[in-house]
Amino acid sequence: MTETYPADAPASQALFDRARAIVPGGVNSPVRAFRAVGGTPRFMVRGTGCWLYDADDRRYVDLVCSWGPLVLGHAHPAVVEAVTAAAARGTSFGTPTPGEVDLAEEIVARTPVESVRLVNSGTEATMSAIRLARGYTGRTKVIKFAGCYHGHVDALLASAGSGVATLGLPDTPGVTGAAAADTIVLPYNDIAAVERAFESAPGQIAAIITEAAAGNMGVVAPRDGFNAKLADLAHRNGALLILDEVMTGFRVSRSGWAGLDPVDADLYTFGKVMGGGLPAAAFGGRAEVMDRLAPAGPVYQAGTLSGNPLACAAGIATLRNCTDEVYDRLNTTAEVVSKLASDALSAAGVPHHVSYAGNMFSVFFTDRDVASYADAQTQNVDAFRAFFQEMLARGVYLPPSAYEVWFVSAAIDDAALEIIESALPYAARAAAEVIG
Ligand SMILES: *Cc1c(COP(=O)(O)O)cnc(C)c1O
Repeated sequence: MTETYPADAPASQALFDRARAIVPGGVNSPVRAFRAVGGTPRFMVRGTGCWLYDADDRRYVDLVCSWGPLVLGHAHPAVVEAVTAAAARGTSFGTPTPGEVDLAEEIVARTPVESVRLVNSGTEATMSAIRLARGYTGRTKVIKFAGCYHGHVDALLASAGSGVATLGLPDTPGVTGAAAADTIVLPYNDIAAVERAFESAPGQIAAIITEAAAGNMGVVAPRDGFNAKLADLAHRNGALLILDEVMTGFRVSRSGWAGLDPVDADLYTFGKVMGGGLPAAAFGGRAEVMDRLAPAGPVYQAGTLSGNPLACAAGIATLRNCTDEVYDRLNTTAEVVSKLASDALSAAGVPHHVSYAGNMFSVFFTDRDVASYADAQTQNVDAFRAFFQEMLARGVYLPPSAYEVWFVSAAIDDAALEIIESALPYAARAAAEVIG
């Protein structure tokens, strides 16, 4: 495509104006507002395969995939059929349903967890896992890493990635001193810092929570052995290791990050892919720990819509269609797209670093290697902004933030790759102009 879309998007702008009048910032999740990249957030009206269509009826290759869930692409026939059939049987019963058992079995069969509880969002999953770890150990403190995002749980928002990083927000008002005081924030990939934390708070740390591979400060893979050392340190000190696989789960392999880098974690959290685009998430782990949850045990956790039949149907259909072929395709596509981006940026003389964790990747506009949030923050976000706008104008929908994964789906085809390839040189030159 040599033509470009106009910079303005009148139909999206009209919707955004209506939304801003009655919804804070006009959006229901901050990064959607395009604050970091400028311009009008595109209101999407439909999606099919790897294509998104906005309110102005412009078509984009989707490299956001609903921020991860849509590994099979939009409106995959098996998912649509499963959800439609489930809806026709009734949307919610407030009772146990067969789909919950099917989805839980699917998760247990693929991952290290022995027992699993379904919830509605990744935030709920990590919040509940933290509560369970505290209930199980009788301790209060939690270690998290700067730049990791675990949803908008009070205790986990300190130095968080995702939208908090994108918007450059300081500590969030509304989180009490008490909630923040129990959180120990450490640099990612720094084992010595974790050792020191256990030494300085003996018998007080309930859990370490970490993204199985960080994706919310852009992609930053754990160094070789980092997660294993975390498990070892946690266990030597009577704490639990919670691996947050909300982003990596069922995306980087059929078993998530655990399939690539298995370590002895106690609890895991899942979300995104396992809901197939509907609100479903989960936390699970060793049965002995999970059995402390009500009604089997005393740690309370509940949800009116947890295990919702539509969400379970979408999740099961998605996971069952995530075949080896799908993972091969995700891996190959990630490799191809990242290489195209890197080649275009190199040709334009733009300093950059492509960072991988399995088939998750992101492009940092920095010449440094990136192993931590501090490294990630050395990137030139103005260069990303120019790059993003040029890609958007040429029909490629990237995450509107320099701190996010470029998510591929198995639905990306040759036509989509051609559009990406032809847009990249223009975007790279736009970034080069900003850098000067
Ligand atoms: C997206 C994400 C969450 C939060 O999930 P929500 O469904 O948005 O609440 C938690 N942890 C990680 C690693 C995530 O990527």
